[in-house]
Formats: sequence, C-alpha cells, structure tokens
Amino acid sequence: MEAPTADELLQNKDLMKALDDAWKGSIKGTGASRLYQERGGWIYADPSNVSKLKIREAGKDRSKPVKENSSDNPAIDLENPESQPGNVAPSSYKVVANFHTHPLPGASQPPSSSDIINAYARGVPGIVKSERAIYYYGPARRENMTAASPKGYPTNLPGNPADALKGFKEWKPKAN
Ligand SMILES: [Zn+2]
Repeated sequence: MEAPTADELLQNKDLMKALDDAWKGSIKGTGASRLYQERGGWIYADPSNVSKLKIREAGKDRSKPVKENSSDNPAIDLENPESQPGNVAPSSYKVVANFHTHPLPGASQPPSSSDIINAYARGVPGIVKSERAIYYYGPARRENMTAASPKGYPTNLPGNPADALKGFKEWKPKAN
C-alpha cells in the first residue's frame, strides 16, 4: 500500500484533534507574559491499512517557550522520533508525516525554509498549524512502506537548501 499524502492525512479526525491539542498547548498566559511554544509530533500509519493512524506527541522538552518579541524564535526538535519515550506506535507502523505549530500571532506564520528542507531530508511530509491556516510541505508521501524500511524517518540526508524553493501548500477542507 502507498503511504498517505498530507492532504489525505488531514481528513483524519484524530489528526485534527491532535493539531487542536498541540495548538492549545502552544500558548500560555496572557498579556506581556504570554509564552509561545511550538508543539508537535509524529504520525504513524499501519502499512497494511494506511487509514489506521497512531499519533505521537513530542515531549515538551523538545521545544522552549518564548515571549512574542524574544530574539529567540520558537522552534521544535522533531529529529529521532524513536527516541521519544512512552506511547510508542505498534512496531509494524511507519512514520508517514510529522506536524508542529507556529503559534506566534500576526503574519500567516507559514513553514520556514528549515521546515521544508528537513521534510525532504527526512523523506516524509510535514504539516504546520498556525493561527490562520494549516500548511503542508515536503515530499508528497513516504516512498516506502515495506517491512524492510527502517523505524523512524525513512531517510536522514543532509538538508539541501535548494529544497526550500519547493515551497508549501495551504490545506483547504474538502467541501461536502
Ligand atoms: Zn516550523
């Protein structure tokens, strides 16, 4: 079976809920002391039925809260999904995408160049939720869902800066 695309994954209600939960966990406090912390995780699928997903949240220690006008931009480390303790996916499942939030207010907060470069280097699509939109980027889908392919990301190439030019798409819910 082919791996799902980001657009297909975004039809899944559990993923929508995970994105909402990540969003809620990204903004803490009010006024000048409000803190913004990117939250995210990994999406796994069952190779024998890729509509069966397992969503794993990344630990809070993979990102740091920052104030809106801090010189530190918020970021999250989604490397090495298998090093995340707890709540593991069934052993046959494969990582098919990752997701994270861009919680800062204001501009549309689309995927960064690093986000896009990382997605191609890792070989799975990425999903970003910001205040205004949900975006996806990177390869259309994980190429290999067979048992012989590794746990974690299917590839871990040195990032190619030219991949940033491939850009991102804004996700639109399908009209019923
Ligand atoms: Zn990002």
